[in-house]
Amino acid sequence: MVYLEISFALPCDRAVGRQTSDPLTLDYLPIFPDDTPQTDEVWRVNADATILRRGDEIHVFRAQLLRPNHGPTDVALKIDHSGKRTGAFLDEATAYTKLVAAFQGTIVPRFFGCFQTTLSNTTISCIITEYCGEPLHTNLPESPPELKAQLINVVEQIHRAGVAHGDLQEANILLKDGKLKLIDWEKASSHSCDRQLRLLQGAIVPTPEEFGRNELYETFCEMGLWSASTTPFMGVNIDNNPSGRLKSLDITYRPTCTSIRHGRK
Ligand SMILES: [Zn+2]
Repeated sequence: MVYLEISFALPCDRAVGRQTSDPLTLDYLPIFPDDTPQTDEVWRVNADATILRRGDEIHVFRAQLLRPNHGPTDVALKIDHSGKRTGAFLDEATAYTKLVAAFQGTIVPRFFGCFQTTLSNTTISCIITEYCGEPLHTNLPESPPELKAQLINVVEQIHRAGVAHGDLQEANILLKDGKLKLIDWEKASSHSCDRQLRLLQGAIVPTPEEFGRNELYETFCEMGLWSASTTPFMGVNIDNNPSGRLKSLDITYRPTCTSIRHGRK
């Protein structure tokens, strides 16, 4: 079994009667029956963890994870100190282990495990992932074109693998060294993409019915991809169609968007 020792203060400490000098020990939560570690290990996190996000139910810390036979690892600890998110944490851990396992380390953070303990009838849960930077500070529509292009690629990869994220928003998109990673997978689901069209470079804006109404479409809409009605396409302003649907994509970032191809699927 693997145990996690936390020695920094948590918001629930007073409610559960914990002195901060007491290390809090959480048990590794196997997601699958054969997921139980064969050896006994204690993992620790440094006491001077920094807080990244403060919430009524969840706090997120950045810390160094110390494991036997490993160097220190820069991680994020998402801790439910309210006991209200136990199911959501399990859903998220399952998504990391199953739905998006193949993307860990690339467009999804590496997942180190989910840990739990119960104190004074409150279930404390902790998910540990690789630290992957800060959430986007700008709204998606105002984000730089390279970031939008990268996000399209990332979301398209996920959908092609048959997964919908379910909660795409700025707070769930991390940026570090120019690379995007998606977090907060608790609402993720298996997804059969109903997308009817591939994205056309400089295409006529499809209707939701033509494209398939899913989070890809929603994301493109939210990013203003299909509302650049006055942006000239190839130097020609094509926004003169009476139907109002002939609008150009903002093509300035298209060349870096390698997963987008011409043509019908
Ligand atoms: Zn899809």
